Amino acid sequence: MGWIKDLGRVIFPVTCEVCGRTLVDGERVLCLGCMAAMPRVNAHLEPESELSRRLAGASKVRGVAAMFAYIRDTPYARVIQKSKYNCRPDIDHDLAMEFAAEIHGSGFFEGVDLILPVPMHTWKKLRRGFNQAEEIARGVGRVTGIELADNLVARRGHSTQTRRNAEERIRNAAGVYEVAYPEELVGKHVLLVDDVITTGATVMACCDALHGAVGTIDVSVLALAATRMA
Ligand SMILES: [Zn+2]
Repeated sequence: MGWIKDLGRVIFPVTCEVCGRTLVDGERVLCLGCMAAMPRVNAHLEPESELSRRLAGASKVRGVAAMFAYIRDTPYARVIQKSKYNCRPDIDHDLAMEFAAEIHGSGFFEGVDLILPVPMHTWKKLRRGFNQAEEIARGVGRVTGIELADNLVARRGHSTQTRRNAEERIRNAAGVYEVAYPEELVGKHVLLVDDVITTGATVMACCDALHGAVGTIDVSVLALAATRMA
């Protein structure tokens, strides 16, 4: 059925989200050149990464992986914004597939039982149409074969984080998340998935909710992007 896809590409050429060049077979979201030039994080390769130190809150995080550095006003940061504001869940899903395929051989997913996307409050999801974290989780699940779970829920929407400092963000995110059916997660190693890690407040709040409700649980974290700390 490859010809149907090829025909589709002739009629609606798929272009690189960074440079606009038409993508060829085997390329997804970005062309090979832009994929190679992507500012990488590589936190999964070093146990004492800056990113893992950023997430060293009350509860222990086992492993951390992020695909690229989120640097404001760069084309790579705009790719994430485009998915969010132009309703392009395929961008999140397909980039996550690329990243999962890349790091699969590193052993990062070894022992992970379930993938838990950071939940979005219902109203916000209705407004945006989709939850980016869920799309990323789906992309990772498709490559790794690990099942998705929806045990994490957002109890209330927290107000926007962008104008807050680190301390305010942590206070704002605390208590937002809770675990439905904690008994299903006992003794499991879960992979918490989000789109962008900034201060880490959201991820740490989810992590605290999981450790608080379940007790015996291991949590690793994967995000598409992470900001660089000054
Ligand atoms: Zn490109």
